[in-house]
Amino acid sequence: MLNLILFGKPGSGKGTQATFLKNKYDLVHISTGDVFRKNIKTETELGLKAKVYAEKGELVPDEITVSMLENEIELNLPSNGFIFDGFPRTIYQANEMNKILSKHELLLTATVALDVSDNLLKDRLLKRGEISGRADDQSEDKIHTRLNEYRKKTEPLIQYYQKMNKFYSVSGVGDIDEISSRLVDLIQKF
Ligand code: AMP
Repeated sequence: MLNLILFGKPGSGKGTQATFLKNKYDLVHISTGDVFRKNIKTETELGLKAKVYAEKGELVPDEITVSMLENEIELNLPSNGFIFDGFPRTIYQANEMNKILSKHELLLTATVALDVSDNLLKDRLLKRGEISGRADDQSEDKIHTRLNEYRKKTEPLIQYYQKMNKFYSVSGVGDIDEISSRLVDLIQKF
């Protein structure tokens, strides 16, 4: 069973590569960003709570995010494995995730980061904003906030997973297919 965390800054290509890996390995893809966006669009209680933060580019509070994640996992059990895209983003979330996984007897295989420089990300996000109309891709300010949130709250997870011997990284620069092959080459070794 493969349980992967796809890790990386906003715009590093997590969503695209998670979709590829989901199809290749028949995994359940849980994108916390997608779940929030769906709930914001349909104005559910969760959506109304998350909207205030997500539209500014800030992280949604941990308690809200963790209970949503647990719910998504439980809705998809039993499964061949999971690919987590955009979760965890804080140390608190990572600790809670460990508890949720062990409660369901799921073992984290690895955390795999897509490595892309900030300058390249800003261009990618602004372009994505033009195409998708995503509220948090629309201005340099919001992009800046998201990259800052990443640096302050999410980057410490690199060390966290390194200490667990579960952290791997591939370059997220190049053609989509090329990056997918790098991921497959790595996953084959797990
Ligand atoms: P993403 O599509 O992964 O870039 O997520 C879009 C937005 O959803 C983020 O900027 C946050 O506001 C929110 N979000 C997604 N995942 C998380 C998470 N794990 N923790 C807190 N907020 C999150």
